Amino acid sequence: MSPRRFGGGRLVIASHNQGKVREIGDLLAPFGADVVSAATLGLPEPDETGVTFVENAELKARAAAAASGLPSLADDSGLAVAALGGAPGIFSARWAGPNKDFLAAMARIEAELGEQADRSARFVCVLSLAWPDGHCESFEGTVAGEIVWPPRGDKGFGYDPIFRPVGGTLTFAEIEPAAKHAISHRADAFRQLVAACFSPG
Ligand code: IMP
Repeated sequence: MSPRRFGGGRLVIASHNQGKVREIGDLLAPFGADVVSAATLGLPEPDETGVTFVENAELKARAAAAASGLPSLADDSGLAVAALGGAPGIFSARWAGPNKDFLAAMARIEAELGEQADRSARFVCVLSLAWPDGHCESFEGTVAGEIVWPPRGDKGFGYDPIFRPVGGTLTFAEIEPAAKHAISHRADAFRQLVAACFSPG
């Protein structure tokens, strides 16, 4: 079945993170999307009870679409380290704890890797677009790389200082944001979403 396309008008961003809402709004403005955040509409934040990135992105998008009566877009993302069975994965934000201590979360990855020779990892971003009738489309973007230690760079956020993309020598926290945005898991997912569901306005 071909994907359902967004026809323009209001689009809910199912996130309470205003920075994320602004960034997505800018990316989708050329496609006639008038974005409004779940927080602005006073929508509740569902618990992320899924066990995969897709499940969590879809449950957030579906909850916002059902509560608002509008098409809704949600994302879920994280870092998956191969030798750790994909951890921290959907727990990427939770590993940093309530104080968002990513230095501790990065140190935990390094400690659990220990002498492991395989340091491969990937960032994953799933974007899900849901409609009030329950229809939902999901797109998974990834970028492959390696875990380095110690952390390097101060430009990024989260796990960026220990992630070196394949083919590069610098970490995601050492390269310019525009260079990261050109190759990131989020950019990959957005390219797929836009190609499938959005037409230039
Ligand atoms: P979310 O906002 O609930 O999807 O949480 C994603 C978590 O994954 C963030 O808190 C970061 O820890 C991590 N993460 C996702 N994308 C990136 C990235 O581009 N760089 C660094 N960390 C990321």
